[in-house]
Amino acid sequence: MNNNDLQPREHRVYPSLALNIIERQEHSVSRQMISENALKVLYRLHGAGFEAYLVGGGVRDLLLGGTPKDFDIATNATPEQIRQLFRNCRLIGRRFRLAHIMFGRDIVEVATFRGHHQEQNAQVSVQSEQGMLLRDNVYGTKDEDAERRDFTINAMYYNIADYSIHDYAGGVEDLEDRLVRLIGDPETRYREDPVRMLRAIRFAVKLDFDIEEDTAEPIERLAPLLGEIPSARLYEESLKMLQSGHGLETYHLMREYNLFQQLFPVIADHFTADYSSQTEHMLDLALDSTDLRVEENKRINPAFMFAAILWYPMVAQAQRLTEELGIQYYDAVMEASNQILDRVVKRIAIPRRHTATIREIWQLQLRMPRRNGKRAIRLMELNKFRAGFDFLQMRGDVEGGETKELAQWWDTFQSAGRNMRQAMVNDLHQASPSKSKGKPRRNVRKKKSKTES
Ligand code: ATP
Ligand code: MG
Repeated sequence: MNNNDLQPREHRVYPSLALNIIERQEHSVSRQMISENALKVLYRLHGAGFEAYLVGGGVRDLLLGGTPKDFDIATNATPEQIRQLFRNCRLIGRRFRLAHIMFGRDIVEVATFRGHHQEQNAQVSVQSEQGMLLRDNVYGTKDEDAERRDFTINAMYYNIADYSIHDYAGGVEDLEDRLVRLIGDPETRYREDPVRMLRAIRFAVKLDFDIEEDTAEPIERLAPLLGEIPSARLYEESLKMLQSGHGLETYHLMREYNLFQQLFPVIADHFTADYSSQTEHMLDLALDSTDLRVEENKRINPAFMFAAILWYPMVAQAQRLTEELGIQYYDAVMEASNQILDRVVKRIAIPRRHTATIREIWQLQLRMPRRNGKRAIRLMELNKFRAGFDFLQMRGDVEGGETKELAQWWDTFQSAGRNMRQAMVNDLHQASPSKSKGKPRRNVRKKKSKTES
C-alpha cells in the first residue's frame, strides 16, 4: 500500500486551487454556442435554486473555438433532487452516480459536485492497494469538485447564474499555452485512475497540445497499471482513442508512452524498432482509413478496425499452429482466431456481436481466392462481403503480389456486367489448370499439399 500517512491525504495530493473568476465580457463563451437542451437543464436547475455550471470539455472546447462533443453539467443538486426536477431523467453509473437527462437521442449528463474521499467514508469511496479509486460517490463542494477533475483545462465552470467562468487550476492559461497538465501530483492522480494516462494522450492529440513535463514523466513507468482497469471500461476508452477521428496519431503517441502495448499485447508482440512489420503497416492503414471515414461522416464499424489490426497477429498464430500441429491452414485459422480473440477480449471487452463480425471478415479472406463456378457471385451476396473486400484491399496494400492482384480482380468483377463476369470466371479456369474442372466436388477436402504435415 502506498499510503504511508494516516493523515488526510488530500493536503499532499490536492494543492488548494486558486479560483479565478472571468466575467462574462472577458471571455468568448456565449449561450448561442451551447446546445438548447444543455441550456434548458442549466436554467431548470438554476430556477429551482441550485447552482448549475457547464463544465469539462464543453467549456474547454468552446473557449478554443471548437464544437464540443457533448455538454457536461455540474450542480450541487443531488441525483435524487435532479430526478425530481426532470421527468426525462435516468440515474446511471456505479463508479460515479450521474443523472442523464434524455432529449430523444440527445443526452445531457448532470453530475453532483464530487468531494474528497476520506477513510471514514469507506462505504462511498473504495481504494485498491495500488491507490486506485474503485468507488467514488462522495458529494462535495464545487471547490472540491474542481480538485477532483483530471486536467487544468477540464476544470473550468461556466456559471449559468451570471455567465462568468470559474477557472480553478489555471486552465485558461494552459489553454493559451496549449498544455495538458494534470491537477495535483501526477503519479498519485494516475494511480487513483490509470485511465487518466490515456486521457492525457487523447486530449494532447485531439487538441494538438503538448503534455506538460511533469504530467508526461510518470506515464511510461505507470502504464502497466492499466492492467487493473476493467476490460469493459478499456473497451470504451479504446474506441475513444482509436475511433474519434485521430486514431492514427493517437496510436503512435500511445505507443511512444508504452500505453498501446498495455491495451494490445497481442499486437505489440509484432512491433519492430523501425515500424516495418506487416502488423504495423496494417495499423497505419486501418487507422488512417478510419480517421478519413470519421472526417467524411461515414459510418465506422469497430469490428472492421479490430479485424484489421489483429489480422497479422492472427495469421502468424495460424502459421505456428499449422507447423506445430500439422493441421490444415483453414482449421488453423479458426483455432488461431479463437486464441487471439480470447486473449484480446480479456484485456479489452469487445462485445460478442463484434467478435462474431471479426471472425466473419477473417473467414471471408479465406474464401476470396476461391472464385470458381458460382462461388464469386455467391460471395458477393453475403452481407459482410463489402467489409471483406475492403479488408482484402488493405491487405493488398500491405502484402502486394498475389493478394494485390486478387483485390484488383474483385474490384473489376464487382463493377463488371454479366458477360464480363462470366469471362473473368472462365479465365480463372484457364489460368489455373490444376484446379479440377467441371462440377465442383462437394464435401471433399483438398488433398494435403507436400509442405503441410
Ligand atoms: P470529451 O467529451 O471531448 O471527450 P471531456 O473533457 O468532456 O472531453 P468527459 O469524459 O466527457 O471528457 O468528462 C467530462 C469531465 O469530467 C472532464 O472534462 C473532467 O473534468 C471530468 N473527468 C472525466 N473523466 C475523469 C477522470 N478519469 N478523472 C478525473 N476527472 C475526470
Ligand atoms: Mg464531455
